[in-house]
Amino acid sequence: MQAYPHLFQPLPLRHKNLRNRVVFGAHTTNMARGGLPGAAHAAYYLERALGGAAMIVVEPMPVHASAVLTRGNFLHSSDVVIPHFRKLVEPCQKAGAVMIQQLYHVGAHGDQDNSWHAAWSPSGGPSYHDSDGSHAMSEAEIEEVIEGFVQAARRCQQAGFDGVEVWAAYHCLLDQFWTPFSNTRDDKWGGSLENRTRFSREILSRIRRACGEDFIIGLAVNDEPGVEVALSRESMKDIVALHDAQGLMDYVTVGSGSYFDFSRLIPSFQEAEMLGADLAEVLKPVTRKALVIAESHVRTPDNANTLLGAGQADLVSIVRGQIADPHLTNKAAEDRSADIRGCLSCNQQCWGRRGRDYSISCLVNPSVGREADWGGDRFSPATAPKQVLVVGGGPAGLEAARVAAERGHRVTLAEASPVLGGQFRLAGLQPRRAQITDLIDWYERQLDQLGVEVMFNSYMDAEDIQAQGADEVVLATGSLPPETGFQKALPHLSELPGLAHGHVWSAEDVLSNRAKLGNHVVVLDEGGNWRGCGTAWYLAEAGYQVTLVTPDALVGKELQRSSTDFALRKALATAGVRFITDAVIAHWGGQGAEVLSLLTGVRDQIMASDLVMATVNQAEMSLRDELLSLGVAPQLIGDANAPRLAAQAVHEGRACALSL
Ligand code: ADP
Repeated sequence: MQAYPHLFQPLPLRHKNLRNRVVFGAHTTNMARGGLPGAAHAAYYLERALGGAAMIVVEPMPVHASAVLTRGNFLHSSDVVIPHFRKLVEPCQKAGAVMIQQLYHVGAHGDQDNSWHAAWSPSGGPSYHDSDGSHAMSEAEIEEVIEGFVQAARRCQQAGFDGVEVWAAYHCLLDQFWTPFSNTRDDKWGGSLENRTRFSREILSRIRRACGEDFIIGLAVNDEPGVEVALSRESMKDIVALHDAQGLMDYVTVGSGSYFDFSRLIPSFQEAEMLGADLAEVLKPVTRKALVIAESHVRTPDNANTLLGAGQADLVSIVRGQIADPHLTNKAAEDRSADIRGCLSCNQQCWGRRGRDYSISCLVNPSVGREADWGGDRFSPATAPKQVLVVGGGPAGLEAARVAAERGHRVTLAEASPVLGGQFRLAGLQPRRAQITDLIDWYERQLDQLGVEVMFNSYMDAEDIQAQGADEVVLATGSLPPETGFQKALPHLSELPGLAHGHVWSAEDVLSNRAKLGNHVVVLDEGGNWRGCGTAWYLAEAGYQVTLVTPDALVGKELQRSSTDFALRKALATAGVRFITDAVIAHWGGQGAEVLSLLTGVRDQIMASDLVMATVNQAEMSLRDELLSLGVAPQLIGDANAPRLAAQAVHEGRACALSL
């Protein structure tokens, strides 16, 4: 019996037939070079088409000079892109996917550092992307942008796309016209519902006129119930019903969050799942012609099947789930969902890289963005199978062992402890982060299926390793916290003054339960990442009184990259954690810390039973030189190579195994 009956029903969409109900929705990969999609782009989308997605919405195309948002945006307003897109579209269609391109204009929330153009909006409101303001559009400028949408759609059709998706979500330009907060015009483009929707209705109807009947037109909207000035579900219902009654679109796709609240736009593990489903359910009865797609944190085939089975939507969009595992849909169809490598909803390499204007990748799937070079997320057999010994079962060692075995090598993985996962297993113990534990379970299943010999409780020294006689030795031995109390912000002090008083621990000591803590814990966090922040949260949830001290100007500085910092600070503050920013620990007294303000030089005493230091680890590479002296040349990967985030460990594990 099919495990996901609702997911694998075909569905007609205008002149096309969707092979199932899974869409790979629009998202910015930022992979364009010189404004053109290239080999990396084509291979990225092809992998998802081969993986079974019924419809792919290729990332947004800006429709006008004022719409440019990222360094990797495609060239707007130019027919030069047409033959390049054709190379991307045709192979995906051959692989069975219906191909759509999203068209966008972000209005007031542009990035003028990339567009070199004033941001345009209905009434000149502020940007919620940065501190800039925008320019209220004239009648002629409104016409110019409508024509920009139409020409962009015409180009898509010439490039072979089956349709376009017009972006009206997240308080972008179309939504800015719809929303009274940002549209205070008193001409025919503002005021009544009829007037506020004139801009979007003109765009959609003129695209239909230009592109004819055999062309899919979608509309993207969002649900933002927590923001007073955003459109309510009732208003959105009226707007979508009006567009539907006029037959302006073939589908409406429903996301969550907006520029007002970015944390729900690409929701992390801190947020609930299936955030687009509620509004989708409201829109379903009023869309008589258009299909409804629910997006946002759908993540798994189970969620998708439940949502569709409940009749909340006709289709689901799973973006990060298919970034993490491009073959998610086929695996679900084959009842192999246990083989799906689950997205962690961590946002570290997708949004975390795009937010810094790099092209996206994925923590759990380092082939993202490298499909053209690495042969997708699939493996070709090694020409000469070897005996491979991987030492260390953290994320680097797990990925190296898995991929080496996928390629036909005979692999042994030796792990000093009785469990796999290394530091990543500890991270999975932090609040809401159990998806990491699921990923480690996935690795265990994969290693088992691939016949990898896993040796637990097997600390290997150089002689043990030599005695194994492997053809290739991979050292994935990780990193260890320094036991000096050194802080980067006090580089002249090689050791924390007062360290000898004891009760100074690492984040690893806390999460592995080695630390025997009293009631009041000071956490010194110099990383601004989950290691320190998540440990503070773990302690606060366990009932400890926590003071978080950081040399940064705000708690969770590095988590801004993944838009997880605000929710984290909220969780910490709600749990009663006290924040001290721009500060370091000047002295540890055994029963309290002397906190030094980097701003004023003032020193304050805080009573505390314990000090937990989340500082930069040191690579555990001691075996390398010993092995070299024994004539064994190991490969060093992950934290053993240099202590970093898990994404780099997984990436090096994969790259190393592909090179064997
Ligand atoms: P990475 O992120 O690079 O994978 P981790 O620190 O998460 O690093 O994991 C490293 C793993 O290596 C830990 O599980 C640790 O127990 C194991 N390990 C370290 N040294 C040895 C060794 N000499 N023999 C076997 N296992 C080791």
